[in-house]
Amino acid sequence: MDCLFCKIASGEIPSTKVYEDAKVLAFRDISPQAPVHIVLIPKAHYENILEIPFDNSVINDMIKAVQIIAKQEGMEDEGFRVVNNCKEFGGQTVDHLHFHILGKRKLTWPPG
Ligand code: AMP
Ligand code: ZN
Repeated sequence: MDCLFCKIASGEIPSTKVYEDAKVLAFRDISPQAPVHIVLIPKAHYENILEIPFDNSVINDMIKAVQIIAKQEGMEDEGFRVVNNCKEFGGQTVDHLHFHILGKRKLTWPPG
C-alpha cells in the first residue's frame, strides 16, 4: 500500500523513533510545531479515527503509549497536548491514523 506511515512502520522510510511496541510506533515529527512533537501511529493501517472498530484494542495501545511517552519526555507534570486531525476540515494530510503529542511549551487554545 502506498502509505507514508505504513512505510515508516515497516522501516522502509527512516524515522527518529521514540517508542515502539508490538502494536504502535512513535517518532519525531519532521516539521515540529513544539519543542516536543511526536507522531504516534498504530502499526496496522486505519485511515482515520472513524475507521477504528469499537471492539479493537488499538486505542488502548495508543493511550498506553501516550502515557509512556509523556513520562519518557518528562512532560507528565507540566502537561502536553494530544491531537488527532481527521479528514479535510481537521487538517489531516497523512491518511494513516495518528496522534500528535505536543509539549515543552505552553500551547494556545483554541486552535486556528
Ligand atoms: P496530519 O497533518 O495530522 O496528517 O499530520 C501529518 C504529520 O506528519 C505532519 O505533522 C508532518 O509534519 C508529519 N510528517 C510527514 N512526513 C513525515 C516523515 N517522513 N517523518 C516524520 N513526520 C512526518
Ligand atoms: Zn498506512
